[in-house]
Amino acid sequence: MSQPTIQPTIQLTNYDLPTLQSLLADWGQPAYRAQQLWEWLYVHLATGFDQMTNLPQSLRERLAAETAIGLPQVVDTAQSADGETRKHLLRLEDGETVETVLMRYRRRRTACISTQVGCAIGCAFCATGQMGFRRNLTSGEIVAQALHFARELRAKGDRLTNVVLMGMGEPLANYDASLAAIRRLIHPRGFNLGQRHITLSTVGLVPSIERLAGEGLQITLAISLHAATDKLRDQLIPTNRRYGLDALFEACYHYTERTGRRVSFEWALIEGVNDTPEQARALAARLTGLLAHVNLIPLNPTPDYAGRPSSRERIAAFTAELERSRVPYTLRVRRGVDIQAGCGQLRRLNE
Ligand code: SAH
Ligand code: SF4
Repeated sequence: MSQPTIQPTIQLTNYDLPTLQSLLADWGQPAYRAQQLWEWLYVHLATGFDQMTNLPQSLRERLAAETAIGLPQVVDTAQSADGETRKHLLRLEDGETVETVLMRYRRRRTACISTQVGCAIGCAFCATGQMGFRRNLTSGEIVAQALHFARELRAKGDRLTNVVLMGMGEPLANYDASLAAIRRLIHPRGFNLGQRHITLSTVGLVPSIERLAGEGLQITLAISLHAATDKLRDQLIPTNRRYGLDALFEACYHYTERTGRRVSFEWALIEGVNDTPEQARALAARLTGLLAHVNLIPLNPTPDYAGRPSSRERIAAFTAELERSRVPYTLRVRRGVDIQAGCGQLRRLNE
């Protein structure tokens, strides 16, 4: 007796529009159905197939039987005391969990989304790095985090304005899924998020930055720099031993040349480690002639790292050096510290 074949469930958020078109063509549907379904998913943010009233009943039934919209399951929620930062712990299909954060600042509604469960890079100060690498997220799992907050906001008459790939994981170490997710979010006949409202934050994987520069995108590239000498950066960020600062800055120059976009540099101020005037001067020297902006943020203390956030006085001395060299910077407040937003690493882009 032959075994019944079990049709694996298709997660629709993993599909781009052409893939959806070929799926529905295989099902004998007219060509315009894929666009209709796409709009239900990314414009109307549907949560069930019964809502898709312009699709024939038979198609809705087949979709319900063989596909899923990929709604993440919220297993825990924390909200900062000021109500402006909300973190969800989301359970994925295989039981793994990732954190995803919504930050409200004036008119911005920014989702800080994860690209991996854990991270293999192992930066000393980072809570995600401290947990090690578990697996890559699929493009659908990345997209679903943004859709989740978009639905929450829409229910309150509000909307998601920005997405930062700055949650758990290194997006350029999960390159294809991260890029596919970005392309899905900016699709003009779908979710239609402005490219300039998306920021990808990377520890600085040089070959992947070069590749990203050639994607024809207008997203913001953020580099987690944290140190301006190889000696110090080698200690904080293990990949710096592979791609030193010279190669990293060369890739950043290429990125600005090819995209016309300025590059952001992230700098978590760690008392007595990278908050010295020498580091500030080295940073200014590195940035000479580069279209750049520095985002300073006091370190979020994490369990396995002894470093402390810099004091007000040390921050003032550091920023005075930057001002002397006319380096554009923003000193960011730590958002959602009381809820460890973003696995002790949250932050920014909420200027
Ligand atoms: N892997 C990517 C994106 C995720 S980390 C990257 O490293 O850029 C998001 C940001 O949080 C990075 O700038 C990272 O350096 C920073 N970060 C991590 N741990 C932190 C901490 N304890 N305090 C402040 N910033 C932290
Ligand atoms: Fe990974 Fe970024 Fe954390 Fe470094 S800072 S361990 S690259 S998530």
